[in-house]
Amino acid sequence: MAPRPFRVTRRRRETADTWTLELEPVAGPSLTTQPGQFTMLYVFGVGEVPISVSVAGDGPLVHTVRAVGPVSRAVCESRPGAVLGVRGPFGNAWPVESARGGDVLIVAGGIGMAPLRPALLQVLANRGEYGRAALLYGTRMPADLLYRRELERWRGRLDMDVKVTVDAAEPGWIGNVGVVPSLLGHTPYDPAQATAFVCGPEIMIHFTALALKHSGMPTDRIHISMERNMRCGLGYCGHCQLGPTLICRDGPVYRYDQMQELMKVREL
Ligand SMILES: Cc1cc2nc3c(=O)[nH]c(=O)nc-3n(C[C@H](O)[C@H](O)[C@H](O)COP(=O)(O)OP(=O)(O)OC[C@H]3O[C@@H](n4cnc5c(N)ncnc54)[C@H](O)[C@@H]3O)c2cc1C
Repeated sequence: MAPRPFRVTRRRRETADTWTLELEPVAGPSLTTQPGQFTMLYVFGVGEVPISVSVAGDGPLVHTVRAVGPVSRAVCESRPGAVLGVRGPFGNAWPVESARGGDVLIVAGGIGMAPLRPALLQVLANRGEYGRAALLYGTRMPADLLYRRELERWRGRLDMDVKVTVDAAEPGWIGNVGVVPSLLGHTPYDPAQATAFVCGPEIMIHFTALALKHSGMPTDRIHISMERNMRCGLGYCGHCQLGPTLICRDGPVYRYDQMQELMKVREL
């Protein structure tokens, strides 16, 4: 339960309200993290929030954080040199390994791109092990797109299908306009042997998973990451309970077949 002190070593602005921070331990080794896992980040005197790793491995801890309230804002305002408390890593991982041999669809909405980035990087690092690979990514406005430079690099690859869409265009935008699931119809994949990783607002997850299911993808190969308010991160306090499951302990990554009924219950 005790947070370890980590120092912010780099801070990069992604969008108007979102920053990527790199953190290194004040003493001792860094953490070893897997794609999909999260830490509890503690801003001393303000509070603690769950934040996914946006790069996995045993290097510096990398988090991309959207300022939506007091704690996430304080995290975003932490400049190089500031010390934050870190607990974790917690949670399970995107099953990137078990997707080998088939097509992979990575479907992200908004800040949901951050938890999916390490899964995408792992697929790209072992590109030959997978069939077709696609990144489908949507944000509200073009200015909300995260990781612009990487996105351009990924788009330039011939072995990956990258499609981006926005809810509302801005002057100069010549790309897709529309919701993320609408991209699926234009994406070649074999639903019988593909695996999907989906993260974003719950409504986006819901419609994406439905579209994947209707395309013929078995629901146990649609993996989603669930977000709920959390406190302990260890399955003790019950804050992140969703029906029979505690998201910090059993998730945050679930198969859609485990979640589809629970997701139908509003405010659960
Ligand atoms: C496993 C997990 C991983 C996450 N990864 C990231 C990440 O990589 N980057 C990132 O920016 N955010 C991430 N979040 C969301 C982040 O934890 C919340 O934005 C943060 O807790 C908000 O706290 P706050 O004090 O700043 O704002 P608050 O004042 O607590 O909340 C501001 C608004 O956000 C809503 N909110 C608060 N917590 C959550 C939550 N957990 N899920 C959905 N809505 C919430 C509140 O209802 C309110 O509308 C993650 C959440 C979980 C559970």
